Formats: sequence, C-alpha cells, structure tokens
Amino acid sequence: MGLTRLQLKGFKSFADTTTIEFSPGITGIVGPNGSGKSNLSESMRWVMGEQSAKGLRGNQMADVIFAGTELRPAVNMAEVTMVFDNHDHALKSNLPQLVVKRSLYVDGTSEYAINGKVCRLKDITDLFMDSGLGKGSFAIIGQGRVDEILNSKPETRRDLIEEVAGVYKYKVQKKQAEGQLATTMDNLNRVFDITHEIK
Ligand code: ATP
Repeated sequence: MGLTRLQLKGFKSFADTTTIEFSPGITGIVGPNGSGKSNLSESMRWVMGEQSAKGLRGNQMADVIFAGTELRPAVNMAEVTMVFDNHDHALKSNLPQLVVKRSLYVDGTSEYAINGKVCRLKDITDLFMDSGLGKGSFAIIGQGRVDEILNSKPETRRDLIEEVAGVYKYKVQKKQAEGQLATTMDNLNRVFDITHEIK
C-alpha cells in the first residue's frame, strides 16, 4: 500500500488545484517557512477523518478553507483527495486503487467519498483502522506531537501503544459486540415478560 497522489483545492494556503504525485523515489517535501509543508500533512489527516479544528491549527473546521489573501479572494470550499495503491489490500478493501476524498463548503456542508461514492465518516475510519494510517496514526507526526506524547498521561500512552500493536481494532469490535449483546438481552427479557403475561 502506498500513497500515490495528493490533490488539494481550496485547502488552507492551496487556493488552486495542486497535485502532488508520489512516484517512487520521493522521500520528502522541502520549502521555505510558511510555504505550506505542514498544511500538506494536515490535509492528509483531514481526509482521513480529523474532527478537531484545533488539531489542524484552527478555531473551527471552516478555517481549513482558503481564506483569501491581499491578492486573491477567499474561496467557498476545500477539497482534498488522496489516492492509494492498494494492491496488497493493506487498506480494508478488495479494490486495487482507493480514491478517498473529503470536501467542506463554507455553509458547513461536508462530504466524504471513497472511489467516487459518497460515504460516512465511519467508512473512512474503518478503511484506515489497523493500517498504520488514519487521522491519529503515527505515520503523520505534527509539530509538537512528540512532546505531547512524552508528556501525556500513562493511560493515553497505553492507548497509543495499543493502537500501534493492533489491539485497538479488537477493543472497538469488543465494545460494539457488547452493545449488541446488551440490546439482545433487553429484547430477550421483553420476550420473557410477554410470554409470562400470556401464560
Ligand atoms: P514552517 O516551515 O515555518 O513550519 P510550513 O511550510 O509548514 O512552515 P505552513 O504552516 O503549512 O507552512 O503554512 C502556513 C501558511 O499557510 C501561512 O502563510 C498561513 O497564512 C497559510 N494559511 C493557513 N491557513 C490558511 C487559510 N485558511 N487560508 C489561506 N492561507 C492559510
């Protein structure tokens, strides 16, 4: 699995459509201060489902939309697309190529899509779960994140280690199964009550 293309339009400082092809051999992106390197890594976290505006150095999610400069006006939407080669099926899909897109309009309307099909945030989270990618993954370490991890509570650090070790996925599945079990028990109890009443 590998990221083959990143396309941004209206995201932070990238007002125009900007496409970066990650062909074999590309190992880094360099540029002067303020040229948008962090914006690029944030755009990837955003596509993968980042929900915290603060985590993207903003106050509200609409801050990711190009806000205009002295030379050009603001735009009304941000759109970022990531294209993955998934021949090894490292991402949870049988498709050999995955095109994951997120868009947001100034009116707050927002949309996720996988291979052109509109989907839910949960589908995006599920797709990246346990792949080493995803909004909170260690594939993307923002400025200051190392200090944050070192200074975090032991429980938080344990969560991080569990995610890296691949245990987190099972914790989520366990929680879902427990929820379903509780609902089934409620239904069973109801059936018992009704049968008791009929008798
Ligand atoms: P450094 O090397 O100093 O960390 P960088 O290359 O990582 O810099 P970024 O922090 O990614 O640069 O980009 C900062 C630039 O992005 C600033 O000029 C800022 O004004 C611009 N920017 C951020 N959000 C928006 C927005 N919503 N609209 C327009 N420009 C924005």
